[in-house]
Amino acid sequence: MRRLVLATANAHKAAEMRAVLAGLGVEVEARPEGLGEVDEVEDTLEGNALLKARAVAAVAGTTAVADDTGLFVDALDGRPGVYSARYAGPGSSDADNVARVLAELDGVAPASRGARFRTVIALAEPDGTARWVDGVLEGRIALAPRGENGFGYDVVFIPSDLGGETLAELSPEQKNAISHRGRALRALAELLRR
Ligand code: IMP
Repeated sequence: MRRLVLATANAHKAAEMRAVLAGLGVEVEARPEGLGEVDEVEDTLEGNALLKARAVAAVAGTTAVADDTGLFVDALDGRPGVYSARYAGPGSSDADNVARVLAELDGVAPASRGARFRTVIALAEPDGTARWVDGVLEGRIALAPRGENGFGYDVVFIPSDLGGETLAELSPEQKNAISHRGRALRALAELLRR
């Protein structure tokens, strides 16, 4: 059976990956104990996902999977992008990051608040060879936070093809069916099937 080691230490993401990869005959293992944090020093999602996947594959001696996600806002020239996790500064909370995005969009009309989430998932081998897939969700930034579900920027992200709800107003199942990460995970499943 094929083995895959996850680079993420996030239990929620690990469970999501296991759920999508279940049934593909892939044995999914947790991040190796004792592996230090890999600094995300690249300026693209691909660069950081590859960096993390290669570091884990080298230590684990088997194929590793890593992901990186960013929110790209048109009116902010694509920011926060690769810096989404720490947009309001080192150690910033989800609420701080959301507040900064909303402040920077103050006075920007709904029609000009277009944005997209993008997730890149990299698959690396111990010898350093790697491949990656991505998933995108188009939408726009709400005028104010709405909803109780999800995390991160979900409270201000309105997907294009729904009825105007934010991601935080959807159930986890509704979100997974359309989300950037759900799409990237299904693309990864396709890649592994080949
Ligand atoms: P990461 O690459 O998954 O660590 O995500 C980077 C940043 O994007 C963090 O600030 C997350 O909170 C945010 N983020 C990632 N995925 C989502 C999502 O599905 N909804 C809202 N925010 C997200």
